[in-house]
Amino acid sequence: MTQSNEIIRVSNWINGQVSHSQTGAWLDKFNPHNGKLLCQVTDSSESVTQCAISAAAEAFIAWSELTPVRRGQILSDIVAAMKRRADDLVDCIALETGKPPQDARGEVNAAILQGEYFAGEGMRLYGRSLTSSTPGKYSHTVRQPRGIAGLIVPANTPIANIAWKTFPALVCGNTVVLKAAEDSPHIALLFAQLVKEAGLPDGVFNVIQGRGQIAGAALVTDERVGIISFTGSTSVGKWIAETAGKRLARVSLELGGKNPFVVCDDADIDQAVHWASLSAFSNAGQRCAAGSRLIVFEAVYETFRDKLVAKAKSLKLGVSADCDLGPVINNRQQKAILAAIETAVSEGGRILCGGTAPSDTELAQGYYIQPTIIEGLATSAELSCKEVFGPVVTLYVVNNISEALQLANATEYGLTAAIHTRSVDRAMWFAQRVKAGVANVNIGTFGSEPHMPFGGFGASGNGTREPGVEALDVYSELKSISFLVRENQL
Ligand code: NAD
Repeated sequence: MTQSNEIIRVSNWINGQVSHSQTGAWLDKFNPHNGKLLCQVTDSSESVTQCAISAAAEAFIAWSELTPVRRGQILSDIVAAMKRRADDLVDCIALETGKPPQDARGEVNAAILQGEYFAGEGMRLYGRSLTSSTPGKYSHTVRQPRGIAGLIVPANTPIANIAWKTFPALVCGNTVVLKAAEDSPHIALLFAQLVKEAGLPDGVFNVIQGRGQIAGAALVTDERVGIISFTGSTSVGKWIAETAGKRLARVSLELGGKNPFVVCDDADIDQAVHWASLSAFSNAGQRCAAGSRLIVFEAVYETFRDKLVAKAKSLKLGVSADCDLGPVINNRQQKAILAAIETAVSEGGRILCGGTAPSDTELAQGYYIQPTIIEGLATSAELSCKEVFGPVVTLYVVNNISEALQLANATEYGLTAAIHTRSVDRAMWFAQRVKAGVANVNIGTFGSEPHMPFGGFGASGNGTREPGVEALDVYSELKSISFLVRENQL
């Protein structure tokens, strides 16, 4: 990071050092809270990405030859460095994303937990012992690295996204080129500096800044990159699957969601309101796992609706510790959300609260959206189907659990789902049948942990699961090794 005429400039990190822009082109990054210029980010060309890939290729030989246990120990040192520098990480995330400090702290803690989990994996990285039909033949499997992992992340939970992919990639013995999100460049650079301080060899972890279609796409097309792990929008994910698929790279896609949150007539309504509000509005709704479709039994619809509206109106917007949600990440996203709300109204939706940017002087220059609840939309309306990635939810009325399930599954996505009920029969029935990679009972639509596989059905992914042990299948090659005992040599 450098400072030019008072403007902070954030660069790439290649082979263990800051690598400045060769093109001289910079992208402006604005503070989501007040709309002021926060820094400039290097607008990397394809050749810069190729340079980072070369550094990762060179570092691969030595890194992959370390034992998994040793790699795990180095990851433990990274975790220790993250703990030491936790306040810096929190401040950086809070500033770049505009989330309140307690949310940024929660995210840093989640990233640390990811690191702890995968550092321990260095001592496991288990294979299987296999039987054979041939007498005297003994077989087992081992996990080997695939090579260079190209990791592409969004800005919504930046350090968690980085940790989610980087730790399993490294413990499996791959080297990494991370494409940072345009709107959270500094946290990626801070993490790179921190892994170096912790003793990760140069070239094992590299960061590329810049635009997805240029700097990111160069990772996807490069023959040397054996794994592309992408978290982001479904449209970009489809392009990556097609492009990297042509050269048989391994592709792991964590994409969007339009997640259902069902409230039955036997639910604890206050708890349901609490979790619906968190699912819809925390992180300003910028979660792939946001509960954006609230499906409510008719018998409790009005009670639930009125309590949720009161709750949404009580939420405080801003960046201080007493705030519930911050702004969305950039002006483009704010405009897209407001346009989606306008379309919903033109399609017959009734706004129960929110629907606009706040007008208070303190927030008016930032990219804020009031927590918004809309009812009366058809299930075919655009907002019923399309992810908006903001603090906007739609309400639907159903008469029974079958209708609730049918509506929950009426989506191209299938990432997460939640149901609130006191009935174990309803809960199990729903959880077994809902089209989602994660089904939660009496909590929110989010809340996956480092040891739990996460990923979606349908347009929410391509069937891979990260993290958990399942992430090892993304980041390693499985090899079967067999021995024949020669009895005449005993
Ligand atoms: P996005 O797809 O626009 O960008 C994500 C990342 O991909 C950025 O780093 C961007 O620079 C890069 N990118 C864009 N075009 C590219 C290309 N052609 N080649 C390579 N890289 C490219 O997504 P976004 O708007 O930043 O993020 C929001 C989306 O991410 C939402 O759809 C959300 O649901 C999804 N998301 C999913 C998960 C999950 O785990 N399933 C988690 C968080 C966010």
